[in-house]
Amino acid sequence: MPEDQASQEGFTTHVMDGVKGGHDGMKGSPPSRTGTRTPAGKRRNLTLEDYYQGVINRDRTIIARAITLIESNAPHHFETAQELLQKLLPLTGNSIRIGISGVPGAGKSSIIEALGTSLCSADHRVAVLAVDPSSSITKGSILGDKTRMAELARMENSFIRPSPSGGMLGGVARKSRETMLLCEAAGYDVILIETVGVGQNEITVRSMVDFFLLVLITGAGDELQGMKKGVMEICDAIVVNKADGENLIPARSAAADYTNMLHYLTPATAGWTPRALACSARDRTGIDDIWDLIQEFRRTTDSSGVFQERRRLQVLEWVFNMVTEQLTERFYSHDGVRRIIPSLKEDLMSDRISPTMAVKKLLEVYDRVRIDRQP
Ligand code: GDP
Repeated sequence: MPEDQASQEGFTTHVMDGVKGGHDGMKGSPPSRTGTRTPAGKRRNLTLEDYYQGVINRDRTIIARAITLIESNAPHHFETAQELLQKLLPLTGNSIRIGISGVPGAGKSSIIEALGTSLCSADHRVAVLAVDPSSSITKGSILGDKTRMAELARMENSFIRPSPSGGMLGGVARKSRETMLLCEAAGYDVILIETVGVGQNEITVRSMVDFFLLVLITGAGDELQGMKKGVMEICDAIVVNKADGENLIPARSAAADYTNMLHYLTPATAGWTPRALACSARDRTGIDDIWDLIQEFRRTTDSSGVFQERRRLQVLEWVFNMVTEQLTERFYSHDGVRRIIPSLKEDLMSDRISPTMAVKKLLEVYDRVRIDRQP
């Protein structure tokens, strides 16, 4: 992605006005509007040490700029971001990472607002991140609406960051994961990662969190809510939202039904039987029960060792996924491969070559040129 495009994406946080519109030192960045947090005028470039100190001293403006650095696709930003992460790594890990998924309109952001404000009031530090692949496709974001979570955004202990954009979902996942680590280093002890319940991104979020919560509503139809067995199998709890007014009884009975169903499935987390609860984000009822359940989950998995074991495996999985991603990227941007793909496609369409032979040819071209280049 070109730098100017990178500079326009991923800055829509409604918490930190100061990061809108540009990267540090990037050509074409608009004049900074940093509110009361930093002096007016041109934003100065930060050194690695500035970023480090800013993050560990919980300066939200600098945290936001550090995330911007992580989200940037410019190679020199990548280098600095990685150095920063390396430096911060010993300070990471001290949080509970919670994934929250559900179809648009189920009430994810309302639940995050209710849960987040309650936790902030109890002196937790809450970071909200979003993984929203729609933003990289349409440049519009399902999760990026600035009017959401206004109350939580005003709280001192909160940090809200909408989804990074740019490139494939894998890229978004890397950025979200690194942003999560940065938030942990800054002392956020509850990380809420919101995602829209469509396809692959639920799996991606599952692979980076400790606890995965599925938000459902009654009457939407299980098909509509993507309620295939697979989705239930990756969650640690279901919450049926909008349990208020006339919907209170149906929501409670749906929760009981889901609890029964969950009983028969292979649990996502060894030693933990997922349960379904009902809540109303609007009336703020049942929200504490969600937190109690998460606490219980934490205690159970901590004492069994499953909690730490999952985190270790997630790191390995992440690393090898990145290898796959980067190899794929290299393969398809390889000159020789790119050159023969059009004719190979034609040969395939007209049955002149078998699929397996086509793959062999592609890999041969890739290997040959690569080997030729070696000293
Ligand atoms: P999201 O797209 O999943 O993040 O859903 P939102 O949190 O934006 O909520 C979608 C709509 O449902 C909004 O109009 C909310 O006001 C409404 N809503 C959210 N939670 C509740 C609830 O507990 N009860 C009722 N009655 N409405 C709710």
